[in-house]
Amino acid sequence: MTNLKKSKIQNSSQSKIENRKSKIPIGILGGTFNPIHYGHLLAAEEARQRFNLQEVIFVPCARPPHKNQPDIAGPEDRYKMTCLAISSNKYFKASDIEIKRGGPSYSEDTLREFKKIYGEDVQLYFIIGADAIAELDTWKNVEKLPQLCQFIAVNRPGYNLKSGDFAYILEIPGVDISSTAIRQRIKQGKSIKYLVPEEVEKYIYKHRLYKLVEG
Ligand code: ATP
Ligand code: MG
Repeated sequence: MTNLKKSKIQNSSQSKIENRKSKIPIGILGGTFNPIHYGHLLAAEEARQRFNLQEVIFVPCARPPHKNQPDIAGPEDRYKMTCLAISSNKYFKASDIEIKRGGPSYSEDTLREFKKIYGEDVQLYFIIGADAIAELDTWKNVEKLPQLCQFIAVNRPGYNLKSGDFAYILEIPGVDISSTAIRQRIKQGKSIKYLVPEEVEKYIYKHRLYKLVEG
């Protein structure tokens, strides 16, 4: 594949790599999606095209293990916004697997569940941004993850995407959007147009998400 670098491949002999190539590639993008925005969507679409992913599954977490967020919307709202955002892309799916499982959402558990659902004919690709890959060593059982999936690491403005990763590096057009900035803009009464899909914007206003609680 052009423009792709694999910095380090763990637990992989050449025959395993060949084997992987004959499997059906499916992408997973996990996140809080609080709310989902165009940075997520572009990362997923770029990965889909470059890796010929048959589908990309967006997986909103129940409770992020690494975040202590006071302004986190409920899982149902985050899931619904995700469904609205992806509805126009036939390759994109949403899964409530982590929300249904409840408790802190660990990617290892999610990957194992997907492996059970899809079986051995599928190779899972976990799409992850430069900020998240830098924190990967804080994830639970991170050393087990390369047996369960391949990582596709995408650049993100403000973060360095470099060595030390066991991931394919995928250069995408940088999108300087974060859910944190969107939540802040809502609190400040600023527009979020063109940062999130219109349906997501409408949902946020209709359900009065991310507003400061008065009193
Ligand atoms: P928050 O500001 O609340 O942390 P976020 O914008 O970082 O939200 P997450 O739901 O935390 O969004 O991110 C889910 C995944 O998408 C992570 O792997 C993250 O690195 C990646 N991601 C999010 N925004 C971008 C972006 N603008 N460009 C590239 N990757 C992104
Ligand atoms: Mg984040």
